[in-house]
Amino acid sequence: MSIRELDRQYVANTYKRFPVEIVSGKGSVVRDTDGREYIDMGSGIAVTSFGVADEIWQKAVIEQIGKVQHTSNLYYTEPCAKLAEALCTRTGMKKVFFSNSGAEANECMIKAARKWAAENKGADCFTIATLKNSFHGRTITTLAATGQAHYHELFQPLTPGFVSVDAGSIAQLDEANAKTPLAAVMIECIQGEGGVVPLDPAYAKALSGWTKKNDVLLLIDEVQTGNGRTGALYAYMNYGLQPDAVSTAKGLAGGLPLGATLLGERLEGVLGYGDHGSTFGGNPVSCAAALSVLSRIDADLLADVRRKSRMVFEALDGAPGVEAVSGIGLMIGVKCVRPAAEIVTKCIERGVLFLTAKDKVRLLPALNIPDELLMKAVNILKEAAAE
Ligand SMILES: *Cc1c(COP(=O)(O)O)cnc(C)c1O
Repeated sequence: MSIRELDRQYVANTYKRFPVEIVSGKGSVVRDTDGREYIDMGSGIAVTSFGVADEIWQKAVIEQIGKVQHTSNLYYTEPCAKLAEALCTRTGMKKVFFSNSGAEANECMIKAARKWAAENKGADCFTIATLKNSFHGRTITTLAATGQAHYHELFQPLTPGFVSVDAGSIAQLDEANAKTPLAAVMIECIQGEGGVVPLDPAYAKALSGWTKKNDVLLLIDEVQTGNGRTGALYAYMNYGLQPDAVSTAKGLAGGLPLGATLLGERLEGVLGYGDHGSTFGGNPVSCAAALSVLSRIDADLLADVRRKSRMVFEALDGAPGVEAVSGIGLMIGVKCVRPAAEIVTKCIERGVLFLTAKDKVRLLPALNIPDELLMKAVNILKEAAAE
């Protein structure tokens, strides 16, 4: 049987795959079984931060694999401790819990918020407000946090204790808080799966003020927006916010599974021995990869992400067949006149892999994609949109 047939027969049918079988790649170019090359504008959904088979990243991973690949959390390891230090130093957060995915990073954030609220505001204070159109993961609890009803329908009953409010409305937070005292508000600075929709800065500021005034925690999901993606180390920094906790994953380890929950001053002491755990969490190979990735996300790289972003916006704004361009940094959504899926299919035929998010074509290229490849891909998108 061909790989495609094997996959269809034996892999759970949860993914609608594109007709491309990727076997290798280098940087922002991936190759299929026939040796055909594609410009990779999705980087595995914002995961391969420095592209595929990047040499610096590979070196960090191979070096650690040669020493020890896993120890369990019963013992200390250098990559785990040093990565936690790097994350705290660069954000001002106080402690890090490591897991393996975005959903798990959010689960930890939710557990920490619930424990803090029970201890500080009373046993009846556990409700977390999230935004409509948000996406926080696929576990039963993070689905409950996700403010999109169509994800919920088949999996009732979900974890109780979540309420969703419209982004932009402080009044709805007041209402929710009056009905049942809120423990936290959880947001994405840019809704990724929701269609690359950035929060209005004035609302983000008002929301932050509201959480402070009401002694409610501010939790920020940076699973997709984090680790340089928006031209800042974390997207909340673009907004001048001070979160109580931040979750991240996708691009953190540049292609290996790793989730991190960063806890600020109010939450640093909330999780004690036995309160949470993960067998694979903080895996030394993933942490060594993340240390390498983080060390390269410096001021120069972030400025370059912003410069590349401006090039893309300038090329696409007002282009024929393009209705709107949204996003920050290298997290960009393009609303076209033609359906996004149709444009993505056309671009695959022309050698470029784009993603979709709701009704938009989504761009999440590697942070170091060469200008030439970036603009070649953007021009192919422009052509497809204009047809
Ligand atoms: C992808 C994503 C998640 C879920 O991450 P997984 O690693 O798939 O569990 C959660 N929140 C946001 C904002 C995401 O983009």
